[in-house]
Amino acid sequence: MTSQSSTQRIHRLAIANRGEVAVRIIRACEELDIETVLLHSEVDVNSRAYRMANKKICIGPAPTAESYLNIRANINGAIASGAQAIHPGFGFLSENANFAQACRDEGIIFVGPSPESIRQLGDKVSCKALAKSLGLPLVPGYEGEDQSLSKLLSEAEKIGFPAIVKAAAGGGGRGMKVLRNIEEAKELIESAQREALSAFGSSKVFLEKYLDRAKHIEFQIFGDVTGKVFHLLDRECSVQRRHQKIIEEATSPSLTLELRRKMAEASCLIAEAARYQGAGTVEFLFQDDEFFLLEVNTRLQVEHPVTEMVMGVDLVKAQILTAQGEGVFGHWASKNQIRQPHGHSIECRIYAENPFLGGVPSTGKLGTVHWPEGPGRRFEYGFESGDEITAYYDPMIAKVIVWDETRLRAIKKMKKVLSESIVFGVHTNIPYLQEILSHTEFVNGKMTTRFIDKYFSEPIASQLPNESEEKIIREARSLVKASGLGRGKSLELDSPFTKSWRGV
Ligand code: ADP
Repeated sequence: MTSQSSTQRIHRLAIANRGEVAVRIIRACEELDIETVLLHSEVDVNSRAYRMANKKICIGPAPTAESYLNIRANINGAIASGAQAIHPGFGFLSENANFAQACRDEGIIFVGPSPESIRQLGDKVSCKALAKSLGLPLVPGYEGEDQSLSKLLSEAEKIGFPAIVKAAAGGGGRGMKVLRNIEEAKELIESAQREALSAFGSSKVFLEKYLDRAKHIEFQIFGDVTGKVFHLLDRECSVQRRHQKIIEEATSPSLTLELRRKMAEASCLIAEAARYQGAGTVEFLFQDDEFFLLEVNTRLQVEHPVTEMVMGVDLVKAQILTAQGEGVFGHWASKNQIRQPHGHSIECRIYAENPFLGGVPSTGKLGTVHWPEGPGRRFEYGFESGDEITAYYDPMIAKVIVWDETRLRAIKKMKKVLSESIVFGVHTNIPYLQEILSHTEFVNGKMTTRFIDKYFSEPIASQLPNESEEKIIREARSLVKASGLGRGKSLELDSPFTKSWRGV
């Protein structure tokens, strides 16, 4: 948090984000008696966060460059509302050092690390340089200044194939390409450079050896106001599609106590070296019992709830308290202590997409939505019945989180919860998640980041309706016909009774 020497009570906090994370921040503020101001785009008036926030300020039109990614618009909105602090959530401006700097310049508390820490850790190349200076294990690669194609090609050959090219300023899996051989490498490196320039404003790329049977394991870290960095154990996020996480869990089923201790120590070491304050994540690739530091995310993570469930903490409240200059986790005896996680937690990201058509986004107004409440179940959602899922933003509409005493019971609970969840109006990836949760490799905890490529590269097959569903469909059709409604084809296509809705 923007280095403060004394405590400053926050009375009003602006949220520079949307969707379920905005709701999450509002909930934390409500418990801390802090008023909330939602900085939103024109289209996001139909959202749960909009209905919940104490104040709302429109900061621009739907396109992200004109609203959620516009530093000045967010700062002006916060100033106009009289907010003393801004919480950036995740995505958008959350890892933007210039935004954290602009907050500092305006005397607004940025709920996150200092601009200096973000600069040092947020750029993947400078993060690797710091890790190297601390003697931490890295995936072998090339991070040099010479960005000429001939140099990059010769370095790729030196590393050996497969290799991976990545944007230095990248994130969200963009600007990243796997190089299988020298013939493909030229075109892929050039395309990564173009993508990096348009997405992140810098064409700088770097190369790494591609680890083809690795797991993604990450550590939740937290720097408190005293400068101490704690860790809150690990999460495994190996189930990924196009390098983006779909299912996450705490803790990883693959680590021995010894490895967990070493990775936790490495995580605290790099965070302390960057004088890290607040919540952050140190990501590793883990292969053949060896770990390699991948990057540090200088923000709250989408998958933070699984850590909260097994560690008994509230990371968002801890972030805000730290931003106020208050100590948190003071009762944690030693930063290197390995605590026992309490049970097991799994999160599934629910995307508005059609799993029967390879995951194409599915937009539209939400019809009936039902999340089946119960013990050890948590639903984080930003949109309710009647809200519109638009094509402007990430298609994640909710996160379903479960907790149970063991991993196998948590998997079983997740399957049950998903089977009882209802989302009408858009397609969702729930049927796809169900198949993943039932796959032996996932159940055995052996999945690697290639799991989806290996087993789910094709769209899943849609199931035909059973006899009783056929009957409902026939009856619904005749009712619609008799009522004179539904002459347009949309009603027919969007009917919740057609086969594509099964399992949703
Ligand atoms: P981003 O910041 O875009 O999310 P990361 O560097 O965190 O990018 O990598 C995202 C994912 O891409 C990893 O979890 C992993 O699945 C894959 N990946 C990245 N680097 C490598 C590598 N060297 N070898 C194998 N997979 C990799």
